[in-house]
Amino acid sequence: MTPTLLTGSAPTRARFSFEVFPARSGAAALALGHAVQHLSAAGPDFISVTYGANGSNRDASVDLLRYLRDHTDALPLAHLTTVGEDRDTVRAAIHGIMDAGVHDFLALRGDPPRGLTEDSPEVSGSLSARDLVELIAEARAERPALTSVGRTAVAAYPNGHPLARSRAADIEWLIAKEEAGAQFAITQLFFRAEEYLSFVSDAHDAGLRMPVLPGLMPVATSAQLRKVAELAGRPAPVELTRELEEAGGYAPELGVEHTVELARELLAGGAPSLHLYTFNRHERVLAVLRELHLLTPDPVV
Ligand code: FAD
Repeated sequence: MTPTLLTGSAPTRARFSFEVFPARSGAAALALGHAVQHLSAAGPDFISVTYGANGSNRDASVDLLRYLRDHTDALPLAHLTTVGEDRDTVRAAIHGIMDAGVHDFLALRGDPPRGLTEDSPEVSGSLSARDLVELIAEARAERPALTSVGRTAVAAYPNGHPLARSRAADIEWLIAKEEAGAQFAITQLFFRAEEYLSFVSDAHDAGLRMPVLPGLMPVATSAQLRKVAELAGRPAPVELTRELEEAGGYAPELGVEHTVELARELLAGGAPSLHLYTFNRHERVLAVLRELHLLTPDPVV
């Protein structure tokens, strides 16, 4: 399958993709197997799998990628991080993922492992995401038959990365990742369309050419909302916070409603596609896509 947004041809309707993470227990793995069947049936451009996030097991990411490749119709995309690893170990990880039949990557520096900070030598001495984009290209070139297979994505931060010296420096760095070979970017979570649209507009003015997919997550709980606010680097919308609290801290329909409104504004503003953080559940993200009339035919849920 060739994702429409990545080929540059005009899609007839907006496209979408999903993010999942490896399950942390046998029961969660069963539920995830069920969820990814529904996600795959919706026909996404790809399903991405996180790597090492929140201390998760890296081998479990490769197992999940293999499961997606072998048991679904979706194109798997592997997140890969460099933090705490030397170049040879990262190179071996790239080859291990390609050996699993997965050739699409999201190249990341990665979060500091538990107990370490940005200043720890293991973290500050890691290869950057730009280095990783180059290393993936090198690893592909070592397998000539596959050189043209697979795409490389990188992360973008509409509200700035905590390490960014300035917005301009953050955008320059994103452009450096594109110049190293990245073909598209996926954003960190954010709450307001303007945050994404102004970032993309400034990035294009500065010379960025690759598509930037907005990352969205329909939250179900107050705790998830707080987590998104932390990642977004901005406070959650006051009304959504209040409504969720009034509902007792659990109201999936509110997260769906907010994400649908946000997605409408993003698509109207020119977003090339939607990247949905699923939290390993299919119901809410499919409800968002159904509301936006992006599912054809509607998969059976
Ligand atoms: P980089 O692009 O290397 O750097 C991050 C920031 O540092 C840049 O935006 C820039 O502001 C600054 N910077 C770095 N080097 C320079 C330089 N030379 N010059 C100027 N500025 C510089 N983490 C995980 O552990 N596992 C995951 O699976 C995962 N998935 C993610 C998916 C998405 C879509 C996003 C947005 C993030 C994800 N993360 C994940 C989190 C990510 O790893 C962290 O945010 C990490 O701190 C930075 O990674 P990066 O690839 O953006 O790093």
